[in-house]
Amino acid sequence: MTEIMKYDVVVVGAGIAGPIVARNVAREGYSVLLVDKKPAIGAPKQCAEGINISIFERYDIPYDKRFINREIYGARIYSPSGYELEIKYKKVSGVILERKVFDKMLAFYAARSGADVLSRTEVEDVIRENGKIVGVKAKHEGEPVEIYGDIIVAADGVESTIARKAGINTYAPPHEFDSAYEYEMLIDGFDPDLIHLWFGNDVAPRGYVWVFPKDEDRANVGIGINSDNPKTAKYYLDKWLKENNIPSKKLLEINVGVVPVGGFLKELAKENVVVVGDAARQVNPMHGGGMAEAMKAGTIASKWIVKALEEENLELLKNYTTEWWEKDGKRLERVLKIRKAVEKLNDEDLDVFIEVLSGTDAEKIAEGNYTEVIKVLLKHPKVLMSARRISLLKELL
Ligand SMILES: Cc1cc2nc3c(=O)[nH]c(=O)nc-3n(C[C@H](O)[C@H](O)[C@H](O)COP(=O)(O)OP(=O)(O)OC[C@H]3O[C@@H](n4cnc5c(N)ncnc54)[C@H](O)[C@@H]3O)c2cc1C
Repeated sequence: MTEIMKYDVVVVGAGIAGPIVARNVAREGYSVLLVDKKPAIGAPKQCAEGINISIFERYDIPYDKRFINREIYGARIYSPSGYELEIKYKKVSGVILERKVFDKMLAFYAARSGADVLSRTEVEDVIRENGKIVGVKAKHEGEPVEIYGDIIVAADGVESTIARKAGINTYAPPHEFDSAYEYEMLIDGFDPDLIHLWFGNDVAPRGYVWVFPKDEDRANVGIGINSDNPKTAKYYLDKWLKENNIPSKKLLEINVGVVPVGGFLKELAKENVVVVGDAARQVNPMHGGGMAEAMKAGTIASKWIVKALEEENLELLKNYTTEWWEKDGKRLERVLKIRKAVEKLNDEDLDVFIEVLSGTDAEKIAEGNYTEVIKVLLKHPKVLMSARRISLLKELL
């Protein structure tokens, strides 16, 4: 027999976006169900697990050592010919999380705030009555359940089926995604207080190779490349390991994933369905980081879900689309524009830029003052001698 449930809000997906929405809405006293198809929320991970330190305070998440693998003080960037640019802060700037614990704890905070949480619950379809979506059909531990909700939240990641089933246009061509491949492995010889990034068109077309340390001799070692590349991300990652004489027989995990790097959804809410996180492609297209963006979007979405419930007016959900596009959509569109300009850099340009910047005040770069950085580059003779480089840099200004 099919079990029937009823909630004010049903959140599909307990990655990052889902639990943030579930927690925020449950805190306001509404009934919320958070479901995930995974038997253990958080596992397997599909992530390099790096995030800025600011998220803990900003999104009211405890700074809990149970999900913090390592504190990070900056980054080292490597050019194709081996020029290095190090940006090191005196204070902790980011952390490498343990997502298997982090995601589960975010769901735990949602549960503690009053939400119900059901793992091993896969949503398969929406339920429509008189043409309107009134809930979702799922399987909980293999048994059918019908979950009715006034508002349905699609936080079901990059392959989101819920948004599509709700009639939201989620199509994007393959070049708007990156393919990622990652080993969690034993590796040494890298400063474990920094994240390490390698750029180059033969190293990682459109993307980069990363080493995100979890221990002195353990790290997430991965790569992201354009999805429409004829060669695979694994091919490039294995090639990089071989060329750098890094032994690859101590692989603790292998993670494969797709990262949306553009084409943000225009319509984030339709009738009573709201889309957040990777499902809405709310990811920074420059570096592929999506956790902070999922938290930001989740926070805006929760605000409007609560307002819509308070005022019994689902039309208010549209304000989530408007506010996100005004605050974050515009910013990410600009980042996408910059990414497209950076894509045009050849290996020689990358060498020159990283060489020039490694000789400048790293503090300026660390502050994230890109206009200053570009001005520094524009003054250098190796840049001034090339009309191409000047025009590329001007595109970035
Ligand atoms: C290899 C790789 C490395 C990355 N590294 C970083 C990084 O270092 N830093 C960073 O910020 N971002 C990184 N990202 C991106 C980041 O992982 C995502 O942006 C982030 O997880 C998005 O959160 P989300 O909640 O939107 O989706 P997800 O975290 O994908 O969560 C979606 C959840 O929905 C569940 N689900 C899906 N369909 C259903 C269904 N039908 N029914 C029930 N449950 C369902 C899934 O099981 C999953 O738990 C990386 C991505 C990849 C692939």
